[in-house]
Amino acid sequence: MPGGKYVLPKLKYGYAELAPFISEAQLTLHHSKHHQAYVNAANAIYDKLDKARQDGSELDFKAVAKELAFNSGGHVLHSLFWENMAPAGKGGGGIPDGAIADAIKNEFGSFERFKTEFSKAAVTCEGSGWAVLAYGKMTQRPIIMQVEKHNVNFAPGLALLLALDVWEHAYYLDYKNERPKFVEAFWNIVDWRAANERLKDAL
Ligand code: MN
Repeated sequence: MPGGKYVLPKLKYGYAELAPFISEAQLTLHHSKHHQAYVNAANAIYDKLDKARQDGSELDFKAVAKELAFNSGGHVLHSLFWENMAPAGKGGGGIPDGAIADAIKNEFGSFERFKTEFSKAAVTCEGSGWAVLAYGKMTQRPIIMQVEKHNVNFAPGLALLLALDVWEHAYYLDYKNERPKFVEAFWNIVDWRAANERLKDAL
């Protein structure tokens, strides 16, 4: 009997609560339409696999693997992104403390240096993609990944701590073509508690 399916996660805040940094209209579309589309597409691949195994038909594995990496990557990264934001002043914004603050200071020298590097990774990501802060257990070091689409330049085996979506669909209503303004706004709603929890799990 095949296992379960991906499910669109509920947000821990209302659609209007990240404004003015992400507007209600922008967040509603992003979560309920764009993210939902990745969930549906990833689940459709599992349906295709189930069907082929039931009727014995052949699978185009190259196509299936590519679609699954893209759509499940989209689902996982969006789920992380929602989790690592909170309304400004109510968990969102400010500077980190605890284990993640120490890890950032040890690796980057200062929080400001980390912020500059992460922002740069987000702004310069070619086409659609993500800036992701991850933690390598083998090296015991945090590292910034610049992920194109949802799955290109993705280093395997790292624990994901913090993600910022810089696809145009994340900011086009609020900032039009001005990605740097969206990246700057993100620092007002980043939830360091969530990143800290993830780091604790990774250690
Ligand atoms: Mn997105």
